[in-house]
Amino acid sequence: MRLLRDEAPQSVNRRLGTRFWIFPQPPFIPGYEQPDRVWLSIPPDEIGPGPSDATMYVVDPLFETRPYGLDRLPPFDGAGHPPVRPGPDRHFDSISPDSREFLPVHAYACVHFVLQIWQSYVGRPIRWFFDQTFPRLEIVARVNWDNAQAGYGFLELGVSDTDGIRRPYALNFDTIAHEVGHLILLSETGVPTSLSRGADFFVFSEAFSDIVSLISFLHFDTAIGRLLRRTRGNLLLYNELNRFAETSPETQVRLASNFRRMSEVTREVHDRALPFIGAIFDTIVELYHRELVQRGCADRRLLDVDLRELAQLDFDRFRAATADAFQTRPLIFELALTAARDAVGQALAASLGALDPNTLRLDQAASAVVAAASGATAEVLEINFEWREIIGRR
Ligand SMILES: [Zn+2]
Repeated sequence: MRLLRDEAPQSVNRRLGTRFWIFPQPPFIPGYEQPDRVWLSIPPDEIGPGPSDATMYVVDPLFETRPYGLDRLPPFDGAGHPPVRPGPDRHFDSISPDSREFLPVHAYACVHFVLQIWQSYVGRPIRWFFDQTFPRLEIVARVNWDNAQAGYGFLELGVSDTDGIRRPYALNFDTIAHEVGHLILLSETGVPTSLSRGADFFVFSEAFSDIVSLISFLHFDTAIGRLLRRTRGNLLLYNELNRFAETSPETQVRLASNFRRMSEVTREVHDRALPFIGAIFDTIVELYHRELVQRGCADRRLLDVDLRELAQLDFDRFRAATADAFQTRPLIFELALTAARDAVGQALAASLGALDPNTLRLDQAASAVVAAASGATAEVLEINFEWREIIGRR
């Protein structure tokens, strides 16, 4: 308390960071119409118009722009909308989510939010792999393209067009987090220069980016709350989760809760990435169970059965026990899920330094994640990677 009294309000504010709005899921998804107010851990006086800072800046082209490619790289040199400025209090949450100016601000906030999560897992600032050429990442808030991509010095966001309904990817946290995942991986492992035969770098890159999106999504308190309330704490049960996941509005959950093993996938990169993503998701769910059991919120027998092959009777019993506990102790469930999330996120981030992008195979990536984890996390990861046929049984 003394600290608060002795310091000027401005410096207290400075330490807290800067306020923004983020939609954890695009605003057209039912249940996610309202954005979350988030504090980015960067002081207001380090954010310039754009928004921009020492590591990234946003440009918002005035006219239709082609995406970047081999023949065209940053910086953007066309006409742009004026860089967006913060409100009089130097925060950005006074900008209305309905306004045109909101797009660049939201894109910036999402990139920064994801980066700060993964920097804390890695334990130090992440240096862009392109920083010899471009000191800062250029985020293009809107290009004329039905896609989004990250590349050498840039992250650009197009506009999706489904049945004539146009939705800017700048409002899509899932897509932005995935693209930031690609940038983080390349920055931590280095860029592959000559891929050896059978190397899985691009497959791993897709898996890693989807996991970055999932784990980053689980950093919104409101998202965790909604997920748990809707399932009444019941991420416990694979059958249930699968049913729920099929209709889940959370893109990340829908994708991650798959049952694919390596013998069941094609060579196509996104398909081949599924078992790895599934193994990570299963591990989060299983660590969540362990935490709940330890805190007396779930039946201990839950840890002894293979949840992928649970009988209906057991299923109903576990579900009832969990729902009762969730009714009275919802906070414990949130704690359990965030602990599971962070144990896995940290192991994944710590594994990256051990990977060689030129020769990387999925089994090596999996072993590196297991080696970077500790105790129960390592044990559960290993079992799940084995079940997915990514690593052999020992
Ligand atoms: Zn991708």
